[in-house]
Amino acid sequence: MKQINNYDFTNKKAIIRVDFNVPIDDNFEITDDTRIRAAIPTIKKVLENGSVILMSHRGRPKAVVSEKLSLKHVVKHLSNLLNLKVTLANDCTGEDAKNKAKNLKKGEVLLLENLRFYKEEKKGDENFAKELASLADVYINDAFGTAHRAHASTTIIAKFFPNDKMFGYIIENEIKNIDKVVKDVKRPLTAIIGGSKVSSKITIIENLLSKVDNLIIGGGMAFTFVKARGGKIGDSIVENDKIDLVSEIYKKASENNVNLYLPTDSIIADEFDNNANTKICDIDKIPDNWQGLDAGKKSIKNFIEVINNSATILWNGPVGVFEMSSFENGTKQIAGAIAEATKNGMFSLIGGGDSVAAITKYGLTDKVSYVSTGGGALLEYMEGKELPGIKAITD
Ligand code: AMP
Repeated sequence: MKQINNYDFTNKKAIIRVDFNVPIDDNFEITDDTRIRAAIPTIKKVLENGSVILMSHRGRPKAVVSEKLSLKHVVKHLSNLLNLKVTLANDCTGEDAKNKAKNLKKGEVLLLENLRFYKEEKKGDENFAKELASLADVYINDAFGTAHRAHASTTIIAKFFPNDKMFGYIIENEIKNIDKVVKDVKRPLTAIIGGSKVSSKITIIENLLSKVDNLIIGGGMAFTFVKARGGKIGDSIVENDKIDLVSEIYKKASENNVNLYLPTDSIIADEFDNNANTKICDIDKIPDNWQGLDAGKKSIKNFIEVINNSATILWNGPVGVFEMSSFENGTKQIAGAIAEATKNGMFSLIGGGDSVAAITKYGLTDKVSYVSTGGGALLEYMEGKELPGIKAITD
């Protein structure tokens, strides 16, 4: 497999699939440029000797051209970050793109218009992929967030570059770090899975049961586990149709010698509101009309003890409603404990939208080993699925 670090880009045009799906406000200001910044090292590497054609999706235009979702709104910012003038093609295929790609010289960057203005992108249309491929000599995939989709630009296009396809630094890094939790693991390995619902994380939990030493279940989903054991959970969030599935998880955990940890107490509230009345309560004795919105002190202490005895941690999902200050304590303390343990040599991978948001909120991004940008792609990789965007390069 070719690698970006030792590939010779001299006189080559590289088409790079990036993820520029960034939030932009009503004044067309980019409100979070993390994804653009993340792509800069790969772009700069190619520019040392070659030229770059960038392609990305933004938003969900549903195959209709949209002024609002145009990638023209990122050109200025990208130019500033790269310190050079980025040219925009008014379409991702067609004459303008072809001419501008043809005339591209060493050190120059061309950005194609939003790929999802075409239905062919999501459909993985081969002719569309071929058109994109015809613009360049080399294909680089650096969009981990869409690597689990067999779209034209993420997967199908790779076949037109049998000997000139590779990952960019973002995907290389993601795989290297996620594999420290999936393949090349230092034990004990602990997964902390939180968030609101069991249903969205059931596959990952099932897959983790054959991998982890400890599994901590926190947040809203813990109440389905507590109820499955016969506990009283009051008005806490619950998925009654998942009770059987959760009983199965208890069984499998015990068969696989996985230590399963649930909260033992909870901060309960009489309303889903930051200003609600609150009290602390055993997790399985929550009165009617009250709901558990954060982990209690005893639970947090237990969880931190498990964290401190781990060599590797995967954290996905908050252990309480951390968006509200009255119910953020558990999530904040877990984040802090992970950062502290990382300082002492533990490997920590933070993945999934809300735990990433939490780590960012508490300013700990640089204090953990790796923060995955993956979202759905990370979860599918952890579930043991082969991601089409990865396979297209490694095959
Ligand atoms: P998810 O998207 O499934 O990872 O869930 C994240 C969301 O779960 C966050 O917005 C949290 O506010 C929410 N959450 C965490 N704990 C609870 C809880 N005990 N009750 C209701 N929602 C919760």
